Amino acid sequence: MKRSLCYACALALLLVACTLPAPVMAPGPAVTQAFPAGTFDLRTYQGTMAGVSVPKTLAYTFLDDGTYAVTGNGFAMGSGKATVTGNQVSLKGTFLDGTCTEEGRYSWSFDGTQLALTVVQDPCADRQAGFATAITKHVAAPAAPVAITKLPDLGTTKSLTILPLDEVKAVGNLKTEERAVSYLVKTDNATVLLDMGANSKNESPSPLESNMQQLGVKLSDIDTIVISHEHYDHAGGWARQFNGTFSMGNQQVDLNGKRVFVPRPMTYPGITPVVADHPMAIAKGVATIGTLPMTPPGFGPEQVLAVNVEGKGIVLITGCGHPTVPKIVERAKMLFDQPIVGIVGGLHYPEKDATLLQSRADYIKSLSLQLVAVSAHDSSPEAIAAIQQAVPAAAKDIKVGQPIVFGQ
Ligand SMILES: [Zn+2]
Ligand SMILES: [Zn+2]
Repeated sequence: MKRSLCYACALALLLVACTLPAPVMAPGPAVTQAFPAGTFDLRTYQGTMAGVSVPKTLAYTFLDDGTYAVTGNGFAMGSGKATVTGNQVSLKGTFLDGTCTEEGRYSWSFDGTQLALTVVQDPCADRQAGFATAITKHVAAPAAPVAITKLPDLGTTKSLTILPLDEVKAVGNLKTEERAVSYLVKTDNATVLLDMGANSKNESPSPLESNMQQLGVKLSDIDTIVISHEHYDHAGGWARQFNGTFSMGNQQVDLNGKRVFVPRPMTYPGITPVVADHPMAIAKGVATIGTLPMTPPGFGPEQVLAVNVEGKGIVLITGCGHPTVPKIVERAKMLFDQPIVGIVGGLHYPEKDATLLQSRADYIKSLSLQLVAVSAHDSSPEAIAAIQQAVPAAAKDIKVGQPIVFGQ
């Protein structure tokens, strides 16, 4: 009896022990809030761009891999690396596309919605001004999926001539720019101006206008305009990019009567450009493959021109090639029954690493193209040399004033 009482007693003691509150632990080190990934909108402030006073609304997208992208007024402005050490973050990369590449250091705190950045040291005055107040996390609505269907009624062109009008290299005394793209694409039925150069010194006439004059190309010859993407070296300058428009020179000439295709909503006096957010035919034998997102994310979209040359196949004409060549080729293969036979323009291969460039060149070679012309405006001389070596029979130079003829 005494024994069973002891069992009951032990059981009662155990039950009491289980219902007792857990012992209070001594407080450990405070949990540090991780530096947040996501897009943050900065406040709008008045700044100067290419000598023009414009309101700027900057947004930073911080990615999990420690990189970031900057957009200004919704347009791509720069990118770099964000290195977090304790309560400080260092930002290093292009800011306003190279106008300031210095490192900036900030102390940071994040409350789940707002990221507050206080300057420790930063030589980029614009970045400091943008960070002057806490920046708020922005949750973007998911983009509606675009249906990609074949373009069966594209037709063909017997002739294709691509005449570079603004580029890094030129023949004779035609004007060049360090970073710029503008090509006149002529087919049997259409004359398309792809991109408008950079006019980086705000000259009048601009390098594009001057070269057009010297080469005898008149505005009235052009029936269609395609802006590949909003970057300043394609839209005709920084002020154009920042204001969501484009221009051939210091004055926005009358484009009434021309068909204009842009990669995202852009404005131009007197006309309403068509947003090519999906593939569409723009002339007989000529199409835009529609926009593809750029890399890194946070940047705007880019469209690529496709020309169907009779008896040969599709020639792709690119601006910067930001979506990456494999993705551009993959989209084109979905759209057309004809083989992809050529790529002309910016491929965005700025690297110099020999192993990486060899893999790029091998990839281009695997496409079995008949025409490959790589723009020097966003690819390194080493990349161009590697590709030209890989496909010697197909390789052509891109120079202002030197037409690239494919087809009859
Ligand atoms: Zn670009
Ligand atoms: Zn470019």
